Amino acid sequence: MKSFEWVQAHNIDDAIAQLAPGVVVKAGGVDLIDRLKEGLDAPARVVNLRGVAGLDAVTAPGELVLGPLATLAELEAHADVKKRWPALATACAHAATPQIRNMATIGGNLVQRPRCWYFRSADFHCKKKGGDVCFALHGENQFHAIVDNKLCAIVHPSSPATALVAYGARVMLKGKRGERSLALEEFFAPPEKNVQRENVLADDEVIASVNVPAPMPNTRAAYHKQVEKESFDWPMADVAVVLRMDGRTCKQASIVLGAAAPVPWRAKAAEAVLGGRVVDERAAEAAANAAMQGMTPLSQNGYKLPVFRAVIRRTILAAVGGAA
Ligand SMILES: Cc1cc2nc3c(=O)[nH]c(=O)nc-3n(C[C@H](O)[C@H](O)[C@H](O)COP(=O)(O)OP(=O)(O)OC[C@H]3O[C@@H](n4cnc5c(N)ncnc54)[C@H](O)[C@@H]3O)c2cc1C
Repeated sequence: MKSFEWVQAHNIDDAIAQLAPGVVVKAGGVDLIDRLKEGLDAPARVVNLRGVAGLDAVTAPGELVLGPLATLAELEAHADVKKRWPALATACAHAATPQIRNMATIGGNLVQRPRCWYFRSADFHCKKKGGDVCFALHGENQFHAIVDNKLCAIVHPSSPATALVAYGARVMLKGKRGERSLALEEFFAPPEKNVQRENVLADDEVIASVNVPAPMPNTRAAYHKQVEKESFDWPMADVAVVLRMDGRTCKQASIVLGAAAPVPWRAKAAEAVLGGRVVDERAAEAAANAAMQGMTPLSQNGYKLPVFRAVIRRTILAAVGGAA
């Protein structure tokens, strides 16, 4: 690991004042410390946000407001989050291990870098690192993207993001030029926008909060994470479903797939299938089939299509069944 200057921030403005190209903020450090050890990042300065008072606040008077240092463990256990945003609580509860969830913050989770083994390996100078090859395209791509995968086939690593996008969350970004609020869906950037980045965070900005709208009356939601085996790992496929219901009929559907694309992927065709329809086994299956139309799996990840079909169908039924 290359040496760097270590700065403890006293408040968020103090942290922002330190930011510049070559400077990174640290929250829980779960991803960042790994990257420093792996030599993926070699910053001149690390600004420690951890310990800054108030940045871990979680409030839910109407909308849910998450301070960037709120940990996944806090979110999975928070009574209001469990009751009103169950898909988010479940996504947090199923990420990583209890020990990691105690350290992992929501801000850091959304900005963690992808798990693609070619990106993480010092032996491969891939497009994400300024090279001109995506090694996954013709390599070991069993855990890679099944859509929007021609330029760079990473999948977005954050599971809470899958649920947050389904709930229509926004992020408040704060930087030297002021504050801006963005739909989380717009915060994440596909490879076509900038293959070296996964989001639109500027060098002088931090996530100041994540804001999740209060659920409309009669909203039903569920999240499911499918892993390869019972181990503590990122999902092979995860799905968040948020449905606004009128009796058994779906008025509006939000269905988001994780581990499918370089960004949390809105399954718009599936949403359209459910809109205005009684949600039963057949509707759930039709939505799941629609979600997989147009997918472009790679040589080794075609198996994800039937996995997603099953997980989407089950998550829709879990949402209307009340089981999150
Ligand atoms: C074995 C294992 C399994 C895992 N499984 C999952 C899983 O299933 N699902 C999942 O979602 N994650 C999983 N993770 C990843 C883990 O949840 C993330 O590494 C963690 O959430 C990162 O949060 P952090 O606070 O430690 O961030 P840090 O490591 O401190 O930071 C990560 C990145 O975010 C940036 N950052 C941090 N805070 C801010 C901020 N407020 N504003 C702007 N940038 C910021 C940092 O500069 C850095 O680039 C797993 C990790 C491990 C080790």
